[in-house]
Amino acid sequence: MPIKLVTTAADLRSESARLLMNKPGTSQGLVPTMGALHEGHAQLARTAVEKNDVVVASIFVNPLQFGDAVDLDRYPRTLDADLALLESEGVDLAFAPSVQEVYPGGEPLVRVTAGPLGEKWEGASRPGHFDGALTVVAKLLHYGIPGTGLPPSGAFATSGAPSAGIPGLPAYRAYFGQKDAQQLALVRRMVADLNFPVDIVGVPTVRSADGLALSSRNRFLSDEQRDAALVLSRALRLLEQRANLHEPLDLESAQALVASQPLVELDYFEVVDQGTLEPLAENCRETPFRGDALAIIAAKVGPVRLIDNLPLSS
Ligand code: AMP
Repeated sequence: MPIKLVTTAADLRSESARLLMNKPGTSQGLVPTMGALHEGHAQLARTAVEKNDVVVASIFVNPLQFGDAVDLDRYPRTLDADLALLESEGVDLAFAPSVQEVYPGGEPLVRVTAGPLGEKWEGASRPGHFDGALTVVAKLLHYGIPGTGLPPSGAFATSGAPSAGIPGLPAYRAYFGQKDAQQLALVRRMVADLNFPVDIVGVPTVRSADGLALSSRNRFLSDEQRDAALVLSRALRLLEQRANLHEPLDLESAQALVASQPLVELDYFEVVDQGTLEPLAENCRETPFRGDALAIIAAKVGPVRLIDNLPLSS
């Protein structure tokens, strides 16, 4: 079916209601994006389409989460290609609102505050970023609540599957990439702490064949910078191998590998708890690694700030 583009919340509600009426009508998935879509986003869309009767992808470059106006201006906007990609994955609706639609009164007075989890790692170098990101994710999750454009009185069936959705309304799931691990952890906390009626689904990171995590910003790397950037995923894989072999992680030697690449300016490279993102106290140096953790890394390569991570399990 051709994808339908909507630009207002009212049209999103009525179009999603129309689709839910015409389909089995038991579940809706939301895939929030900022556009400039690539295979990583396609994977999110594919996962959502597999599990839901109706899938909405949002495309919105959120000014609130950019500290730097230049970065906001040069963020790639590729709507036609994005729509083609979403359509090829079977997404039903693309919601691409204007800034005016999302923030009709200008910047919102009341916002979501990410708290301490939003101040470390990415938050430390991008102050306010996660407050802005969570504020728009909160709004998008509300726009996407399924069934609110339908007449009342059980006009559609509800699935028997357990869901955090509103009873009597279709199940509701939202899809986020593991690539942005801190954002995913924060969205999970926001939804749990503030009782949003949606299930959050994390989708594993999609990489190019040489290991580089796909990102809309990779297009700003020169060939030489892109080659240099491969050291990030190599260093993460080194830790993964050691974890799989129950060896000490020896984070220092992996950090030294990154430091040996002159085009890469390392910001952080740590092994942390998956939920709290607090560094693991032990386990990384002499003792064999046991348990579950997340290796996280961020670096500047030329003009681009890159982040990556890998779950470790042993
Ligand atoms: P963005 O458009 O960059 O805001 O990303 C939208 C969603 O796509 C977020 O949930 C990201 O985590 C996810 N995403 C971005 N890159 C990848 C990737 N390489 N693999 C999986 N998900 C990704």
